[in-house]
Amino acid sequence: MAAYEYETHEYDVVVVGAGGAGLRATLGMAEQGLRTACVTKVFPTRSHTVAAQGGIAASLGNMGPDSWQWHMYDTVKGSDWLGDTDAMEYLAREAPKAVYELEHYGVPFSRTEEGKIYQRPFGGHTTEYGEGPPVQRTCAAADRTGHAILHTLYGQSLKQKAEFFIEYFAIDLIMSDDGVCQGVLCWKLDDGTLHLFSAKMTVLATGGYGRAYFSATSAHTCTGDGGGMVARAGLPLQDMEFVQFHPTGIYGAGCLITEGARGEGGFLTNSEGERFMERYAPTYKDLASRDVVSRCMTMEIREGRGVGKDGDHIHLNLSHLPAETLALRLPGISESARIFAGADVTKEPIPVLPTVHYNMGGIPTNYWGEVLAPTADDGDRVSPGLMAVGEAGCASVHGANRLGSNSLIDLVVFGRAAAIRAGEVIDRDAAVPSPNLRSVEAALTRFDGLRHASGQVGTAELRLEMQKTMQDDAAVFRTSETLAQGKDKMEDIATKLSDLSVTDHSLIWNSDLMETLELANLMPNAVATVVAAEARKESRGAHAHEDFPNRDDENWRKHSLTWFKGDEQKASLSYRGVHLNPLTSHNDGGIDLKKIAPKARVY
Ligand SMILES: Cc1cc2nc3c(=O)[nH]c(=O)nc-3n(C[C@H](O)[C@H](O)[C@H](O)COP(=O)(O)OP(=O)(O)OC[C@H]3O[C@@H](n4cnc5c(N)ncnc54)[C@H](O)[C@@H]3O)c2cc1C
Repeated sequence: MAAYEYETHEYDVVVVGAGGAGLRATLGMAEQGLRTACVTKVFPTRSHTVAAQGGIAASLGNMGPDSWQWHMYDTVKGSDWLGDTDAMEYLAREAPKAVYELEHYGVPFSRTEEGKIYQRPFGGHTTEYGEGPPVQRTCAAADRTGHAILHTLYGQSLKQKAEFFIEYFAIDLIMSDDGVCQGVLCWKLDDGTLHLFSAKMTVLATGGYGRAYFSATSAHTCTGDGGGMVARAGLPLQDMEFVQFHPTGIYGAGCLITEGARGEGGFLTNSEGERFMERYAPTYKDLASRDVVSRCMTMEIREGRGVGKDGDHIHLNLSHLPAETLALRLPGISESARIFAGADVTKEPIPVLPTVHYNMGGIPTNYWGEVLAPTADDGDRVSPGLMAVGEAGCASVHGANRLGSNSLIDLVVFGRAAAIRAGEVIDRDAAVPSPNLRSVEAALTRFDGLRHASGQVGTAELRLEMQKTMQDDAAVFRTSETLAQGKDKMEDIATKLSDLSVTDHSLIWNSDLMETLELANLMPNAVATVVAAEARKESRGAHAHEDFPNRDDENWRKHSLTWFKGDEQKASLSYRGVHLNPLTSHNDGGIDLKKIAPKARVY
């Protein structure tokens, strides 16, 4: 192979990704004086977090009574009892602190009359442990909350002298022979040079893999690169079968209309003009959790009550809301509806369809963000030198289904937790470990192989084949037949990675090569999704299996782990137990365990 030169950089911490999770981790690390590099393939404020509209959940209680215990209960129920109890407690308990920190860093939240942070209702967020009315828990900066958070965190990180390496593409993790992560090898996109970031701690904050599907609300850059790197390093991916479909993607375009639209009073109707969610979820109606609403919409369409000339979508109505509310609270989505659906929200409904939105699964971690390398005897064994936060990780707080506005809070709570933990475990005086040259060589060889790939299949062609298969066979509703077919098809599609053809061999702004690296990362994420879904013989959260319509806690209240061997695309499965113990006992103010005992999930 061609010999590549690379420049070596030494840091205490290298964070891969500059979305909400990566920036919050970077900021927290730099604040403690850890020498921190943040590597990102897109400009920080263009990360997908910028698109987050609706808001960030925290029980501030600004608009009425609320408590972290209620937030925790809703998260447990939302997860369909698959989330880890300790992590869910940590999320709900630390959320108010993390939001006030954001406020003090300068996030321009919308305000109430008294000047407090404005909060809106969101799906699945309730009072009184699901017995009371919906709660207003989602803190918002109009409908541009992610944008506001990202810009603030980037500014603060610069102030703390974190060093940014922008438009650097992370290729592979560098691992010692005994499994310690030693950093990451990167390709600088604008001049073609290669860079080895050697660090005592590597943090993956690379976001989700929505682009494994044909129609997704996520940016084209959401290609699961962290999951790809982890799979190649011989570490598992967790709960990958759980993919969230957001009820209101704009029909055709796929872009998102925030759940905040229903939070502000919007509702769904079918071709008969019926507000059908009242029938399925009498209490919370259009604000039932996302998996529930997406399934109900799909059922309406299947039963012939879809709208449009092909009867294949649903209407979201906002025109009854005061023009003032639309302009003040939902300006961005009014614009999206006009541009992408030609709809004037003050007069007509928006055509919508459930669209892939979020990956509950990802790189398994504990609630400090430390990546797990479970063994048969120890499901919680930590993989040294490696952390994962944000949508790339799986702590697991969202279990089988994430509640709206619980992702932004996950980014900042666990980005912050990872920084706190790193401050404890990193020895500042120790030398940065010298990298395992065999691992560097392997990463370079793989990179060179893809750069000069001279097979028969174009990258865009193979990507489309993967996306269509995932869309058809790992959808809102699944059956044994579609899943078995999807698994066979995806395993076959994945083998075609070795038959790719890359026509541009240059190293400067080579989008052909970058998209090929991204496809090679999407593939293990996609394969893991169908393989884990095919194996799970129950319905839970976003995994709605028509042949096994009930949740089966006795056999399936466990996390799936999907493993790959090296660069091979064939996956194998194992499982680890769900953490059932909270961090705080009831006597010390923690949640009453009886409140979160498994039961049927109705809204
Ligand atoms: C349209 C939309 C609206 C949403 N609205 C909300 C909401 O209102 N509330 C809520 O709670 N959640 C919302 N979500 C979900 C939430 O926004 C995401 O889960 C979250 O922003 C993910 O953040 P992240 O930091 O993990 O990753 P991202 O923001 O996706 O950032 C990933 C980062 O990793 C970098 N990266 C990736 N691969 C590489 C590589 N190979 N090399 C170098 N860098 C790399 C990228 O450059 C980027 O900086 C929304 C999601 C979407 C798509």
